[in-house]
Amino acid sequence: MAILVKKFGGSSVATPEKIHGIVDRVLSEKKPGDRIVIVVSAMGDSTDDLLDLAAKVTDNMPKRELDMLLSTGEQVSIALMAAAFCSKGRPAISFTGGQAGIHTSDVHSKATILDVDAKRVIKALDEGKIAIVAGFQGITDEGDITTLGRGGSDTTAVAVAAGIKADFCEIYTDVDGVYTSDPRIVPTAQKMDEITFAEMLELARLGAGVMQPRAVEYGEHNGVAIHVRSTFKNDPGTIIREEYTVQEKNFVIRGVAHDTNVAKIAVKGVPDQPGVAYKIFSALANANVDVDMIIQSVRDSDGSNDILFTVAKTDLVEATSVVESLKEEMGGFNYDVEINVAKVSIVGAGMLGSPGIAAGMFGALAKADINIAAISTSEISVSCLIKASDVKAAVNAIHDHFFPNN
Ligand code: ASP
Ligand code: MG
Repeated sequence: MAILVKKFGGSSVATPEKIHGIVDRVLSEKKPGDRIVIVVSAMGDSTDDLLDLAAKVTDNMPKRELDMLLSTGEQVSIALMAAAFCSKGRPAISFTGGQAGIHTSDVHSKATILDVDAKRVIKALDEGKIAIVAGFQGITDEGDITTLGRGGSDTTAVAVAAGIKADFCEIYTDVDGVYTSDPRIVPTAQKMDEITFAEMLELARLGAGVMQPRAVEYGEHNGVAIHVRSTFKNDPGTIIREEYTVQEKNFVIRGVAHDTNVAKIAVKGVPDQPGVAYKIFSALANANVDVDMIIQSVRDSDGSNDILFTVAKTDLVEATSVVESLKEEMGGFNYDVEINVAKVSIVGAGMLGSPGIAAGMFGALAKADINIAAISTSEISVSCLIKASDVKAAVNAIHDHFFPNN
């Protein structure tokens, strides 16, 4: 007997046939006494379709209304999934995020889950039902619907798993696990059997699309082991957990990630004096814009600074309006915005005690004749900002360097 949360993404529930396929698989794998919660995303590309619809009405959709709109996508799939189970004689009941007790902050379009009060879900399980929970959404103290950011159903699944003390949170997706790099770009990428929370979090944060970073973080904080596996195949997939249980290889680098949701803003000729960086970055933080890479360079000639930073393209409108208002307030400076950029990164906990890893990455880029615009590092990663058009070549060059035997 196990308590399981199974999350199915948009491509897994894209059609009525696929929904029935999932129902059949869940029922055939279910052992007597298993308690099962299913978290689903919106069908296929319907979240994108809703975004397109919003854009046809206004180019300035209030974020609260956008959440109201986008949350309907998941509401469609939970109802259909519950009905599909019922049609096969298996009692099931659907819950919106709010009904499932997913309480969030009020930051619309990227709300964070504050706590999960899973009593209705637990009651349904006690009654022998399969509980179907809408991914990607929650509710504020005020009762407003929020969404958790693109890919947020992963986070819902892990949070619900923590809330009902599940044995495993299974993330079913159209890839069969976590790879050393995106297999659509790097044909030699290899599937991993296991990866640690810390490394997966870093890979996800740096653009590996398999899982939403917040989901991994939530799993780490709440000790929920996450199993990433294929919706369409029965392969073992990849388990994300605290520590490796089998040390297959002595890997220093665990994976190569890339992210094209990046924009670069360069603020030029701001005064070289205390408080300037504070002013710029606190204004961005107040607008809820996450800043990623930051580089400051001093111009010796006139005692001013250039400050370059990157933000997600999806935050660019907010970031630019903050910079515009600072420009007036600080008595004028020049700035430019570049969107044809991307970030490539290497991740691995082993790099801590291994000098020369960053140099290896820069060498691979140099050999491929790719220019680096900015560099940032963490304890377990190194990232380089490059031209967007160089991404494929860069990721392959770096992957070949660190995983030469494939
Ligand atoms: N439907 C939402 C999205 O497309 C949430 C998810 O798929 O996890 O981003
Ligand atoms: Mg989706």
